[in-house]
Amino acid sequence: MTIAVENPATGQVIGTVPDLSADDVAAAARRARAAQPSWHALGYDGRAAVLHRMQRWIVDHTDEVVATICAETGKAYEDALLAEVNYGAAAFGFWAKQAPRYLAETRIRSSQPLVAGKRLVQRYQPLGLVGVIGPWNYPLTNSFGDCIPALAAGNAVLLKPSEVTPLTSLLLAEGLAACGLPDGVFGVVTGRGATGAALVDEVDMVMFTGSTATGRRVAARAAERLIPASLELGGKDPMIVLADADLERAATHAAYYAMFNCGQTCISIERCYVEESVYTAFVALVTAKVAALRQGVPAGPGSVDVGSLSFPPQVDIVDRHVSEALAAGARALTGGVRPEREGHWYPPTVLVDVDHSMAIMREETFGPTLPIMAVRDADEAVRLANDSAYGLCASVFGRDLARAEDVARRLEAGAVTVNDAVVNYTALELPMGGAKPASGIGRRHGKDGITKYCRQQSLLVSRLHLRRDVHTYPYRATRTRAIRSLLGLLNRGRPGRS
Ligand code: NDP
Repeated sequence: MTIAVENPATGQVIGTVPDLSADDVAAAARRARAAQPSWHALGYDGRAAVLHRMQRWIVDHTDEVVATICAETGKAYEDALLAEVNYGAAAFGFWAKQAPRYLAETRIRSSQPLVAGKRLVQRYQPLGLVGVIGPWNYPLTNSFGDCIPALAAGNAVLLKPSEVTPLTSLLLAEGLAACGLPDGVFGVVTGRGATGAALVDEVDMVMFTGSTATGRRVAARAAERLIPASLELGGKDPMIVLADADLERAATHAAYYAMFNCGQTCISIERCYVEESVYTAFVALVTAKVAALRQGVPAGPGSVDVGSLSFPPQVDIVDRHVSEALAAGARALTGGVRPEREGHWYPPTVLVDVDHSMAIMREETFGPTLPIMAVRDADEAVRLANDSAYGLCASVFGRDLARAEDVARRLEAGAVTVNDAVVNYTALELPMGGAKPASGIGRRHGKDGITKYCRQQSLLVSRLHLRRDVHTYPYRATRTRAIRSLLGLLNRGRPGRS
């Protein structure tokens, strides 16, 4: 059985991949488990050599990687270069360098008398076989990118890319092999949802990015197997524009980060709240910028600003959200009409006169849309921004930084940016992940982004001790009374006021 891969911008079939069965996945898992111990035994330096070579490989193969990504996603050249190739190359360098630091053994100090004088150590070991299940919006960054820290930690990894965009992962697997990654340590298991489900049944930990509904299924299966699951799910990221904001910058960011990657970014700006005194001016600026965007089939650098949608059913979702909003009284200031053309397209769209009864303000649209709402003040903006099941990222624009930061701190989102948006994702040192269940659990990036691929071991080594510790058998009343007095002294607490 095979799966045809289509260029969503043209509708042409550009390749086929195997639709692997559960037995195929189990065989891949056996190969990966057999290869993992010697990969781990290479140590950080040995693994870093391969990862650094792969960093170089990505840079040297930029044209081929960008072309593959653009062909299977329909995204603009610059979207593939900046958010994928650049991310992937940086991530290989970052994790090669940081893995030994983040996973270094830590000496722990304890105030507890029973362990006085003993050496306490926290250490990390690879879990063994990690499964990564990825979506179609960023085949390098979101699917493959999560494999990099898992490999750096010494795991074997099996990646199940989206059935819609598997070619990038297969190309990068070739790159890893050319860079000296031992056979079997990394594998790509292509297929549909059933292949992903089979992968969850084989691995020691699963990292999933995608929809909330599928994430819940993956988490439920992981819970049955009692394996850890890290989930990056949907977002409905709000942007707040305060009255004193630099409107030009705010409008540029709104247009860019709502339409970037054709709006198919988990942390793209999906809704916007503007203090009413600057609403009209802001809307005019944004609308002009969005209306000027050139959308089309990408054909190299600078050819288009916005490409096609990557996932055919996504066009229906975007169209439904916009049509329902228009039917309920919203107005499209630009875009808003689904075009009749080959491929999977929706135009960059700015909507006003929207409210929270509309799906476009509540559900993940994942398309090139920007609904904008006027609000009385910052309090109303915060209330509406937080009125969501999602809580991935958010942004606040305002010149008074103390006020803008105060608003940012009141937002229920895993990451919030002030006078900026989305670029927090590029700071690989800064953890990111959801603050509410619908946006997932767990973090990528930073120390949490690699320790999640490890099992922890706590070591206690007793060096200086009596031949027999005083609390051990046989129990004797006099000793027990002495211990009790000592415990009373140690746990007497701090004098309180009441
Ligand atoms: P899914 O969440 O269904 O797919 C994500 C990945 O999970 C794909 O590789 C998919 O395989 C796989 N998968 C599907 N079913 C299972 C299963 N039972 N067990 C294990 N893995 C499985 O996303 P969709 O592609 O269907 O997109 C739906 C919506 O998700 C979008 O409209 C968008 O709103 C949101 N989304 C969010 C993303 C984010 O970054 N947070 C990214 C992409 C989508 P296959 O593709 O082969 O079905």
